[in-house]
Amino acid sequence: MNLILLGPPGAGKGTQAKRLSDQFGLAQISTGDMLRAEVAAGSDVGQLAKAVMEAGQLVSDEIIIRMLGARVERADCANGFILDGFPRTVPQAEALDALLAAKGLDLDAVVELRVDDAKLVERIAGRFTCASCGAGYHDSFKPTVVAGVCDVCAGTSFTRRADDNRETVIARLDAYHRQTAPLLPYYAARGRLKTVDGMATMDEVAQQIAAVLPQRVAS
Ligand code: ADP
Ligand code: ADP
Ligand code: ZN
Repeated sequence: MNLILLGPPGAGKGTQAKRLSDQFGLAQISTGDMLRAEVAAGSDVGQLAKAVMEAGQLVSDEIIIRMLGARVERADCANGFILDGFPRTVPQAEALDALLAAKGLDLDAVVELRVDDAKLVERIAGRFTCASCGAGYHDSFKPTVVAGVCDVCAGTSFTRRADDNRETVIARLDAYHRQTAPLLPYYAARGRLKTVDGMATMDEVAQQIAAVLPQRVAS
């Protein structure tokens, strides 16, 4: 099964991708996480991407498509994958179509998580992550059970993204509406688009996603 989770920053793509990956044994591919690893490593790609990401703009299609192409060759993708944050432009979607066709693969569904802009700002401003295991949290919507201690690994160190501030969010939302939203009609025209209400609770969103996945996949 190959899925895309499509939605603006803070819509819950990472949260739901993690659940689907655990449930179906699929590789979770987040181009944002991959880029942050490149930035942390100080690689050539990381050096090119850092300022662009901090400004809330999109990294060039060329870099992203090359990175994604290498990623889907890895062994953990044999069972299929969930794309979280890719594609974000029409050229990226076209490159993905070509890549899948060359491998004889298809997309099972493109799941749109629909969330109002005001809610997104609230989600992003409260987002934090365990520095040890990467588990995702939110100050109001998903705090740790014990303050300052990760529920999953008991780690006590957490990180907040450099671009998760109210100013940058405006630029990221603008990039979403201008460059990524055209993918909605793109996939609707191909009969792949499934829209769910991303404003609901995390459990409810997970249930809605399960309900729209193709039957052979969900069973
Ligand atoms: P979010 O989870 O908030 O949607 P991501 O972690 O997916 O954010 O992405 C963070 C940043 O990384 C983006 O604002 C953009 O600069 C860059 N990025 C990630 N994926 C892509 C992509 N497919 N194309 C271009 N830029 C990307
Ligand atoms: P994305 O990957 O689309 O940028 P995340 O999955 O990182 O979004 O979610 C953004 C923030 O909102 C995180 O702090 C997460 O814990 C929280 N969150 C995710 N889904 C929901 C939801 N359905 N209700 C409330 N908060 C949520
Ligand atoms: Zn942890």
